[in-house]
Amino acid sequence: MDEKRNRRLGNKYLVLLVLTLLFFSNCKEEKKEVIEEEVAVVEEPKYVYEFGFKLNDYVVKRDTIKRGDTFGVILERNNIGYPKIFQIAEKAKDTFDIRKLQVGKPYTILCSKDSLELPQSFIYQPNKEEYVVINFKDSISAYKSRKPIKYVEKTVTGIITSSISETLDEKGVSPVLTNKLADDIYAWTIDFRRLQKGDRFKVIYTDKYIDDTIYGGIHDVKAAYFEHNKEPFYAFQFQTDSVKGIIDYFNEEAKNLRRAFLKAPVKFSRISSRYNLRRRIAVYGYKLRPHKGTDFAAPIGTPIMATANGTVTKSEYRGGNGNYVKIRHNATYETQYLHMKKRKVKVGDFVKQGDIIGWVGMTGNTGGPHVCYRFWVNGRQVDPFKQKLPEAKPISDSLKVKYLDYIKPIKYKLDNIYFEPEIIEEEQQVQTLIKQSNS
Ligand SMILES: [Zn+2]
Repeated sequence: MDEKRNRRLGNKYLVLLVLTLLFFSNCKEEKKEVIEEEVAVVEEPKYVYEFGFKLNDYVVKRDTIKRGDTFGVILERNNIGYPKIFQIAEKAKDTFDIRKLQVGKPYTILCSKDSLELPQSFIYQPNKEEYVVINFKDSISAYKSRKPIKYVEKTVTGIITSSISETLDEKGVSPVLTNKLADDIYAWTIDFRRLQKGDRFKVIYTDKYIDDTIYGGIHDVKAAYFEHNKEPFYAFQFQTDSVKGIIDYFNEEAKNLRRAFLKAPVKFSRISSRYNLRRRIAVYGYKLRPHKGTDFAAPIGTPIMATANGTVTKSEYRGGNGNYVKIRHNATYETQYLHMKKRKVKVGDFVKQGDIIGWVGMTGNTGGPHVCYRFWVNGRQVDPFKQKLPEAKPISDSLKVKYLDYIKPIKYKLDNIYFEPEIIEEEQQVQTLIKQSNS
């Protein structure tokens, strides 16, 4: 064997080499030397860092908090006596209350790399990103820290065949993206329960990675393009108030995609009865029983949300209404929510759009679990689906200029992402051109 060549071989080849050597065991003696030399050359010392420690310097013990575990019990199990445990708890208490250890959360103990394996640091992770370090090797110290987080911008395109979640699933993209598009960004403009075959989308979003390796989920959506019924809907994320941290989505003309009112007070619901002044009901002998609300059927206990910001003016139990809540949004608009199992707000409370105000039930006059949603304009009950609802906070004129400038490169990028069949078409065109030039 050529030694120089051998040096250049990677680990994979070494495995092969070992297997080959095992096979030809008669020449084992002679080649074994070569391998040992190889290993010495290939193997580089690898240092592993985590929580700001070089883990190679310790015996690392990892576990999760079990039922019945306390800080004391864990340290005692690792050969630390009670007077010391008490000292540690006292010194650490300003940084971390050791009584707050939660069952199922991971912890790591760094022990000395000798026969005693004495614990020197205790690291607790209340969530994927944060960790608490309590050092007690010589003096006792404690601090909180965060794992480094990296955001990676990605793009995805898709064409709807049956549902958006199915399309994204095929591409291995988290279902969180579906929720963001359906509930946050396009909740007011596109009804995701009625997408058409052939509807298509492009999204620029960011993924979050903790410690470079742990996937932390989709962080946010920077921009999106959704073509529904051949009509384009652009969405660009933009911060309108850096002090309050208000972030909204606007279209290419700086119009807010959000409306002042949500389309429905419950998620994942079905409209079981619409606003209908000419409704007749069999149990009432087909007498005219106008229905001035919209019924959203949903399982008992489903959260009911305020459809817009406002102040609670009624929260009580009354006759046919059962448990109900009424909210005044401004001088013009009021909304009312009936038949709740339980109310969560009281008169005078200020609620924000999307806040939970109660839970779906069957109180009052109702045949099944649903919320009867009533929409009042200037004191009159109307059909919310026939109203041209006001746009949520329009962007200010000075900000509009900034916005349009800001989205320019993002829109350019979005417009230059191609749908997969388009790429194939282009390739075919190129190939036809090549053929033509060859002939
Ligand atoms: Zn109703």
